[in-house]
Formats: sequence, C-alpha cells, structure tokens
Amino acid sequence: MRVIDNFQHIGEENAFAVLARAAELEAQGKSVINLGIGQPDFPTPPHIAEAAIKAIRDGQHGYTPALGIAPLREAVADHLNQRYRAGVKADNIIVVPGGKVTMFAAIMMFGQPGKNILYPDPGFPIYRSMIEFTGATPVPIPIRESNGFAFSAEETLPLINADTSLVILNSPANPCGGVTPKADVDALVRGLEAHPQVAIMSDEIYDHMVYDGEEHVSLLNYPEIRDRLILLNGWSKTYAMTGWRLGYSLWPDAIFENVRKLAVNAWSCVNAPAQFAALEALTGPQDAVTDMVNQFDARRLKVLDALNELPGVSCIRPKGAFYAFPNVKDTGWKAKELANALLEDAGVAVIGGPDFGITGEGYIRVSYANSIDNIMEAMNRIDTFLKKS
Ligand code: PLP
Repeated sequence: MRVIDNFQHIGEENAFAVLARAAELEAQGKSVINLGIGQPDFPTPPHIAEAAIKAIRDGQHGYTPALGIAPLREAVADHLNQRYRAGVKADNIIVVPGGKVTMFAAIMMFGQPGKNILYPDPGFPIYRSMIEFTGATPVPIPIRESNGFAFSAEETLPLINADTSLVILNSPANPCGGVTPKADVDALVRGLEAHPQVAIMSDEIYDHMVYDGEEHVSLLNYPEIRDRLILLNGWSKTYAMTGWRLGYSLWPDAIFENVRKLAVNAWSCVNAPAQFAALEALTGPQDAVTDMVNQFDARRLKVLDALNELPGVSCIRPKGAFYAFPNVKDTGWKAKELANALLEDAGVAVIGGPDFGITGEGYIRVSYANSIDNIMEAMNRIDTFLKKS
C-alpha cells in the first residue's frame, strides 16, 4: 500500500504535541502550567452555549445548506459591514468547521507544482504544511523583531513573481503578537496592484485582540483588491469557542463556486446546533468579548514585565492576539531545546520559535491565555530554571 507522495510533505502543529506531553506529565503527578496552547482559557459565554442547547431541543439536528444557515451568513455580513463598512454580501460568505478550513481551501485552490505561495515566517505552521502538501513552493515572508513583528511591505513585495499565486497575511499575528500598521498594509496593497494574478488570503482570526488603542486594519478596507481577497475569520478566539469548530470566510464571486463544491465534497455543512450558537454570538450581547479582551490586555502587560526580568530574555511589547514572543538568544539555549527543558524540568509549557518557521530561531512563544496567578507562577519557575541552568 502506498499513499501519494504529497503526504510525505504534510506537516503539523507542534502545539498539539506539547499539549499531549503536558497532559502525560500531569498524569504522572507533575504540575505543568500551560502557556503553550493558543486558546482562550475562558468558557464559551453561557448565552451562546444556551443557543446551541435550544437548537438541539428545537430539533435542529439535520443537514443545513452547505454554505451555512441563511440567518448566520446574513449576520456575518452585517457584522463585517458594521465593523468595516465593507459592503459585504451574504452571498459571498461560507460558514466552515473552523478557521483552519479556510486556509485549507484557499491553499488547495491556489497551490500546485510550479506556483509560489508567500506566507509569514514565523507564522501559523499549517500555512507552510498545506503549501508543501500541494507541491507549490513555500516562500517565507520574514517577520522580524526589528520591525515590531509586523509585515514589511518593502520586504514582501520583491518576493512576488509571475509564478506567485497566493499571498497569505496574518495580523494580529500568531505567534509573535505583531500588528501590521496601516502604512504597511497600504503599501502592500499598492504594490499588489502590479500583480493582478495574485490572490490574497488575510487571516484575521485575532481581529478583536488589538491593544494600546491601536485599530485593526482589515484587508476588507481596500476595495481595489476585493475581487481577489479571501478573508479568514471565525468564532474560536473571539468567543472562546475553539472546540466548537466554527469559522467563516468571504470569497470573491469568481471562485465562490469552488469553495461551495469543496464543502459539499468534504464536510456537507457545519454542525447545525453550533451554527445557532454562532448566530447568538454575533447578534447577542458582546460584553463577554470586551471583558475577555480587557483581561488579555492586563495579562499581556504583566507577562511582558515578567519576561523582561528573566535572565537572558528580552521581549518587545506584543500589540495583538494573546501571545508574547520573547527573544531568548542570550540565555545560551537553542529555542526548541529551551522549550523542551522548560516543559520537562520546570513544568512550564511554551513553544519553541522554530516550530513556526526558521525565522523563529532564538525565540519562544508564550501564550498568555491563562490566569495571572498561573502566568506569574510560570515566570517564577522559568526564572529559577534559567538561574540554575
Ligand atoms: N489562524 C491562526 C493565525 C491561528 O492562530 C489559528 C489557531 O490557532 C487558526 C487560524 C485556526 O483557528 P481554528 O481553531 O478556528 O481552526
């Protein structure tokens, strides 16, 4: 039996392996503080969970349309139009089982041998994994500490050539917490006008988590690229719904049929009660979102101060999402070895920067989606570990 060669190139997310190892250590009676996983530690707000329970009681247990229930697609379009005055139509929206599904669909649609796809490095590991799976050439866009972990239009545009089929952008960003300023997004969009064959996938799954009074700059704000923009978003991070597997995306008219057919072939529709929860999330009270974002912000400032006090560690101020990406070069450790030793010997789970791409060497990702008490205890453990190592 021999599966096709593409499977030799598929990667994965090390965060799940770290989560599994942390659970193993805990099962052996060891205490582990998990700053490794990228998910809110809050429960899904009760009114959202109740909407799903009600949907089950109301008998919403059958298939829904492949694109999602009509009121939910309308609610997504309304939400985007209120937030960005974007002129989005529900006809261009599909509800999908998780944010990841949009990147899977987009990369499948634009990746094949002979094509280049640009993606952020460090970046969400599935971008590169899926690009390699399709046989396209992955072209990393370096995301640098010296640029505040934002995209640099100047560094990105020269990487585009006639074979480039897709550019993937992500702001606010995983794993560095960077937020790309408007001036850079403007310059990038201006530069993309010279490459009309290139599609753009903007992963804006952390769009509500922007701090220090900055505004999220959505690629939806640029009508000049709307006919080739795929917008990825979803409920996982904003509404603390990672396990519900709910996402949505906006697709241009010209390729919408492709994603509809992919849905029919692969997942038929998203779990029906979950779609009713998603509808309540968008149309119900938003206080829980504000509260969660405020708590992430408070933790961000605490973790930033604590990281900068660790020996050999320095960390620039993360502007968005719920990650810090400290520089650990002066500890004398290689990043992945340090992450491993912290898990095994200090009881703190973090992720080595190289798990997000080669530019991540010398850094670790610290998720502050955990309580302040746990974060401070983790910082104490790391401090003790580094002082004796
Ligand atoms: N995009 C980014 C940048 C992410 O960090 C994640 C999850 O960590 C996703 C997409 C996927 O989200 P989901 O869990 O909804 O598939």
